[in-house]
Amino acid sequence: MGVYHYATICTNGHIVNESAYKYTPFCQTCGKETVSNCQKCETDIRGAYSTEYGYETDYRAPSYCFNCGEAFPWTKMLLNNAIELIALDDQLPNDIKEIIKNALPDLIIETPSTPLATAKYKKFIPSAAKYVQDGLKNLLVDVASETVKKALWG
Ligand SMILES: [Zn+2]
Ligand SMILES: [Zn+2]
Repeated sequence: MGVYHYATICTNGHIVNESAYKYTPFCQTCGKETVSNCQKCETDIRGAYSTEYGYETDYRAPSYCFNCGEAFPWTKMLLNNAIELIALDDQLPNDIKEIIKNALPDLIIETPSTPLATAKYKKFIPSAAKYVQDGLKNLLVDVASETVKKALWG
């Protein structure tokens, strides 16, 4: 049986330490405050998983709290930034903005709706301004699953 360790992650989503609780108060990469608990239910954020054979090597900051479902600060920020970016595009009709916005959560997390969200995004994103398309790609490329990345950007 393995165990989950604590994690220290900054509010921008940088992993400060994947096996220590409140390792440092601030992130050495961006200077933001770090968290080790969900801000809603205070449950410890899951860090790396380890077994008798060692630590998992591909630890990524979780997007949502496993206990209450609250989005972590970095997830909220990513979604907010994406939504603000879409809002900048005056030429894009509101109904298309809505479709793209609604697809975003299923692009960053693999869900049963991910293939549908990917298809919608692919269909409607070419209507958006180039800077919106590029900006969204920059935001999503670090967090989207391999399947989504492949489907959207080859
Ligand atoms: Zn940081
Ligand atoms: Zn929580």
